[in-house]
Amino acid sequence: MRTQRQVVDYSLQKRAVLRELLAARVGTYDVCDASPYLKNAARFHGEPTEERCPICRSENLIHVHYIYGDELKQSAGQARTRAELSVLAMTLREFQVYVVEVCPGCDWNHLVEQFLLGRDGLAGGAEDGLEREAVSGSSAPAGSTSRRRREAQR
Ligand SMILES: [Zn+2]
Repeated sequence: MRTQRQVVDYSLQKRAVLRELLAARVGTYDVCDASPYLKNAARFHGEPTEERCPICRSENLIHVHYIYGDELKQSAGQARTRAELSVLAMTLREFQVYVVEVCPGCDWNHLVEQFLLGRDGLAGGAEDGLEREAVSGSSAPAGSTSRRRREAQR
């Protein structure tokens, strides 16, 4: 998606869980625990994938996209299809998407990735970039002085 940004990939964490499972340090009971809500979301809003479930190897994984953000109001925390995400991405400034993979067979589930969508990701002015940099700084005064220092060094 065009406005996709700040992607965080969770495949390392997933591999770690699968390693633990192989080593029998955790049981399938601990990782195949998809809630009824998650399974419903997968059924009604999920996107089928070509990827086989790493646990039971009998079903393909389904990706569920959960959306979060102030602009979403009462829709925050709900699942949306990819088509709906594209529409929201052109309507809202910024919202967070969490992608969860679910196996409809054995209830395996894991976070795949998270990213931001929204119009703020479209080629915006420099002003916009500065705004976001200020927000991501740990404390405003320190952040602004270090930025000023960086600019002075240029
Ligand atoms: Zn499975």
